[in-house]
Amino acid sequence: LTPAASFSTSSPPIERDDEIVFGFIGLGNMGFPMASNLRKQTVPLVVFDTNPETCRVARENGMVIASKPEEIITRNFFNKTKSGCSLIFTMLPGCNAIHATMNQLFQVASTDVQDVHCRRVFVDCSTVSPSTSKAWHKKWIEKGHDMLDAPVSGGVKGATDATLTFMVGSEESRGWQVAKPYLDFMGSRIVFCGGPGAGSATKLCNNLALASQMIGICEAMNLGEALGVDPIVLSDVMNTATAKCWSSEVNNPHPKVAAKRSSPAANEYKGGFGSKLMLKDLGLAVQSANEVGVSLPITSQAKELYRLIDAHGLGDKDFGVMLQFLRGKRP
Ligand code: NAD
Repeated sequence: LTPAASFSTSSPPIERDDEIVFGFIGLGNMGFPMASNLRKQTVPLVVFDTNPETCRVARENGMVIASKPEEIITRNFFNKTKSGCSLIFTMLPGCNAIHATMNQLFQVASTDVQDVHCRRVFVDCSTVSPSTSKAWHKKWIEKGHDMLDAPVSGGVKGATDATLTFMVGSEESRGWQVAKPYLDFMGSRIVFCGGPGAGSATKLCNNLALASQMIGICEAMNLGEALGVDPIVLSDVMNTATAKCWSSEVNNPHPKVAAKRSSPAANEYKGGFGSKLMLKDLGLAVQSANEVGVSLPITSQAKELYRLIDAHGLGDKDFGVMLQFLRGKRP
């Protein structure tokens, strides 16, 4: 029995679907295509971003723009029973932006949650620390609202194609029941990971393992080539042997191997998962490990290597650029 399946589905939703107004804050590389996919299936949608240019493009694409985050809650854009949005997604750069935005929303959110029309569900899809997620779960629940931490994997392509994986942490069934059908519009796999912060924790653990996996493959490809083995032969053997993994197969960091799939290493490491995003996630993982007293010796080193890559101006390159960095070369 999965945690999701163990939830009761008998309690009624907070309001009819046609009464829900959707909010989306943070329309960057990920947020814009996610909001666009949501809008294809559900109107009305109100959005906000601190970048005026982004808001202009959103307006051109038929989205309704809030002039400040609070309006997402306080303003009645569509003449509905309730003022503001009841299901509010955030897709922001990190913990600081989430604290700032949530604080603004928190100031204006009603405590009159006896009225079903005053209860709201906040779905944070940003990658943040589990402690940040937990802190906001606690505050929203104390005020009578619901929250999900629901970070994603799948990158910009997954956001565009609506094939993201959502990793969800949530305390009780109501917010999850309300939000789940709409996550389906933006992703192809929605996994309930556990209580508050469990989605954020799962996301960081996955990326922590991925970082060291990639470095291992980079070291193997570099050593193999230096010892005279053809990279294609080496990767073919690894991909049918015990070293097989996503970094050896789908996103191999060697340009010659990557050419077979046109993956980022074949295109000067453009596109893919940026090294500075990996650095951010490793920083959150190490910080979280410190909070709970868990040792991450390899991840700590991986983080420092990605910090160096970023300092060398390669932060926007796919994280497989590590292969070139370890050779002392630039792609
Ligand atoms: P981005 O920098 O492209 O977009 C962030 C957007 O938020 C920008 O449009 C910015 O103007 C806006 N913004 C910043 N502060 C704001 C505030 N206080 N209020 C409103 N808007 C604000 O970032 P992204 O690549 O879209 O990533 C968003 C989140 O998704 C991050 O937490 C990232 O770690 C995570 N993520 C990214 C990827 C990826 O491949 N890009 C993959 C998985 C997860």
